[in-house]
Parts: sequence; structure tokens; C-alpha cells
Amino acid sequence: MTDLAESLAPFSGLRYHSYNEWAKLAHGGRLQKVSIDAGFTCPNRDGSRGVGGCTFCNNEGFTPSYLRQHRDITQQIDIGVEFMRRRYPRTKAFLAYFQSYSNTYDDLEVLKERYAVALAHPAIGGLVVGTRPDCLPDATLDYLAELAQTMPVELEIGIESCSDAVLRECLRGHDFACTQEAINRAAQRGLFITGHLLLGLPLETQESLIEGAKALARLPLDALKFHQLQIVRGTRLANQYRAAPESIPLLDPDRYLNAVVDVLEYLPPQIKIQRLGSEVPPAVLVSPDWGMRQHAFPAKLEERLKVRDTWQSRLFDDDANQDAANPAREARRATG
Ligand code: SF4
Repeated sequence: MTDLAESLAPFSGLRYHSYNEWAKLAHGGRLQKVSIDAGFTCPNRDGSRGVGGCTFCNNEGFTPSYLRQHRDITQQIDIGVEFMRRRYPRTKAFLAYFQSYSNTYDDLEVLKERYAVALAHPAIGGLVVGTRPDCLPDATLDYLAELAQTMPVELEIGIESCSDAVLRECLRGHDFACTQEAINRAAQRGLFITGHLLLGLPLETQESLIEGAKALARLPLDALKFHQLQIVRGTRLANQYRAAPESIPLLDPDRYLNAVVDVLEYLPPQIKIQRLGSEVPPAVLVSPDWGMRQHAFPAKLEERLKVRDTWQSRLFDDDANQDAANPAREARRATG
């Protein structure tokens, strides 16, 4: 076990590895994502895996309002860049963020066409593609890896939970083995991989969360995003919650921050933390209303880490993970 100062050395003075701080060093400034709804759907909605989607999903809740009125990709980028330039004037590069639904779920030629429209925009310098782990055929990964030779490309994979019981309960339509396999195949191609975790899902326990964190530590992930479970209108969870609120024990900010810390402690230091929480528009939020803005999460987390006198990777067992001998992970570690 390393001491505190040595452990925090790569974290720019924080107790966790902040993606924004890393981007400043690696890219010379802030990388700002500009969200796009490119008109894709998802196999858990169109009937090929399921209908009605994951129990927590209403994409309206996760989609910036400007995307709901403008379907044209170029127009969405124009509006998004203008907005982000005002908010973050020191942005180094804008990345087209294919965010809504599953953005690798179509024929490769269709994907190429839609990505190309975004990449042709003069303000865009790279790509972020959000998707499910079961929508990543080798040909698509090969294409993304080819793009990544010339620009920043990030693949964002919805993990949500590492527990099969939790994934089944939220009708996710794939298991954790599928996630592990997709992450390893993407890493073998050298892609930058961000995992998306949703904390507070029904049936998730502190034990399953920590087991999940240990499993994530063995994967070749570059970054992680944390979100708290929020029940939004138009979802199956919202129906369940209205009928029996006690059947969904929602986290409060205190328990959520502790859950994030519990996971962070087991993660290797090189995993960058891209996001710590989210806000959905009040019009679609059913519960819980924490009254907490998204930008408040990093300071709250830092404070909680200090109070618990801990940090990302404090319990990470490097030797055990070396023994797991995952060649893809080792290749990623070699490149930082
Ligand atoms: S969360 Fe993603 S995978 Fe699940 S239904 Fe919504 S778009 Fe599909």
C-alpha cells in the first residue's frame, strides 16, 4: 500500500483522477462534448432485445433541451457549440457527442454517414460515441479505431451495473459478461473507453457495488462516469414508484457520495473520472429532488474523500489484478 502523497501524485492535487484535469495535461485544455441526437434507436426498444427499454430510461430526461427541437446534426452542433463557448470560453476542442440512444446500432454505412456530418463541422475536433455493449460488432470497432488514428475518439459504454441480478431487474437485456467482452475487444483496438455507471438501481447493494468495482478494476477502462438513479416520467420505474414508492429505496446525496467513494477506492489510479452526477429537467423528474446542481458534485466528493481520509485506488490490489493477466488491460496501462 502506497502512502497518501504518493497515491495522490497523479491526481493534480485532488483525491481522485479528474478527467478534466487529465485533459488539460493531455490535450492542452478542456475537451467539451456537444451532445447530438442522431436519430438512432436501441435494441431494447425496437423489439430485437426488448420493448419499452431499460426500466429507468426516458431519453428525454438525459437529452439537452435544444436537441429536442432540432433534428439536423449540423444545426444541433451550431447551437451546442454556441452555448458551450459562452459557458466554457477556454475550451480547447469540441467533441461531437453522439449521446441519445445507442449510437452504434445501425448499418456501418449509416453510422459512417452520420459521424461524417458531425466531423465535417468546422468546430468539431473529435468524436464521442455512446452505446450499449451488445451493439459493438468488430467492424464498427475497427472503424472507430481507424478514426482514432487522426483525432480524439472516445467510446462510451453503458455498464450501469456489474451485477447480473441488477441488470435483469432493470430489464437491461444484456449481462455483465457482455460488457466485459465488449470493453476488452474495444481496448484491443486501442480505443479510449469510458464506462457509464448508474448507482442506486433496485437490488444493488453495497456488497454488489464493491464486487463490481473490483471487476471494473480488472478491465481496460480509461474513464468512468457516475450517475445517481433518478426516476423520470415516462419510465417503468416511474410507474412502479407511483404505485409503491417503498419498493425503490432511493439514495440521498450522503449515501450516494459514500457509494461513489466505495467504488473509487477499488479503482486503479489511471481511470479518469469524467462525471460525478447528473441533473434531469425538473419537468420530467419524479424523484429524488436533491436540489443539487451538477457542478456541485466534484467539490462534495473531494470533501467526502477528505472526511473519510481516503482516495481513488486506496484499496486497489495491483498484484491481484496483474495476476488476472488481461493482455488488453496491460496494453492500455502501458500507454497510460
Ligand atoms: S438506457 Fe440506453 S439501452 Fe436502455 S433503453 Fe435507454 S437507450 Fe436503450
